[in-house]
Amino acid sequence: MKSYSIGIDMGATSIKLGLVDASQTIVNRKNIPVDHYQSPEEFFSAVERTVRNIFEESAVCAEDISGIGIGLPGCVDSVNGVVRDLTNMQGWRGENIPIAATIRERLGISIRIDNDVNIMTIAEWHIGAGKGCKNLICCTLGTGVGGGLVLDGKLYRGSTLTAGEIGHIPLFYMGEPCNCGNRGCLERYVGNAAIVARTLCILQERPNEGLIIRQLIESEDKQLTPKIIFDAAQKGDSVACEIFRTTGEYIGVIFSGLVNTLNPEKIVVGGGVANAGNLVFDPIRETVSRYAMPVATEKLQIVPATLGDDAGIHGAALYGSGHDV
Ligand SMILES: [Zn+2]
Repeated sequence: MKSYSIGIDMGATSIKLGLVDASQTIVNRKNIPVDHYQSPEEFFSAVERTVRNIFEESAVCAEDISGIGIGLPGCVDSVNGVVRDLTNMQGWRGENIPIAATIRERLGISIRIDNDVNIMTIAEWHIGAGKGCKNLICCTLGTGVGGGLVLDGKLYRGSTLTAGEIGHIPLFYMGEPCNCGNRGCLERYVGNAAIVARTLCILQERPNEGLIIRQLIESEDKQLTPKIIFDAAQKGDSVACEIFRTTGEYIGVIFSGLVNTLNPEKIVVGGGVANAGNLVFDPIRETVSRYAMPVATEKLQIVPATLGDDAGIHGAALYGSGHDV
């Protein structure tokens, strides 16, 4: 009886692994720090070792596992189980790495891989904020801005498996240059680095404003982070509130285009900036109701993701055991 699955969530700072039972509860979890997977070979060894460790601790074996899923932060060929490019991982660049075949061979368990945002989308769609939706958009806001699409009850990957790149939709024609080689992308305006840079710029331009942010920067080793901007906004700092409002408006403009094009029931928003709650959700919702077609927003809900940091493990486990359609 295959009553368990394993979800593996590879991030830029650690890999999270979880043994998930039939009720979608994570019954054993492990972390692999980033210095243990600097190359694909180290990754394979670390994953194999950790999965065998989980088996031993939880008294399960390969025959009990319906499948393993892995979410990876980059460009993934989910059909062939190959990683094309993990942009933020040194030592992984520019190779076609046969992740699925190698792990399958080492552990003797069926395995499927996809990019981390599709995996998060599967989790929120099956057991999170998007449960029961037939048409759903998931968006993650953080260092990068990612998107996943469920259309007509299926995860939509596009003709060359790159669908959902919400972060690289142009917000401003001929705007700021982006890491992707283009200009004016949404990520360039609402990613963590952009939010911090915009805040610093305003603080410099207006020396008499943002007093709470300035105090917090002083007390936190003079390093401005999105968390400080959030804390300052909670305390009513005018510059911090303005930053979240503008960020929400930028996101709302792009969402309006997506709503007009795809007519979803829900947009689920997760990641660091989404933790700012109504500070960012209010301007997103207001902008979408202003810019999207009224008929397209009749049933639309824009809601926070509910699975938090565990979405990666849950989504990967669901996907590994065949829950993607
Ligand atoms: Zn871009």
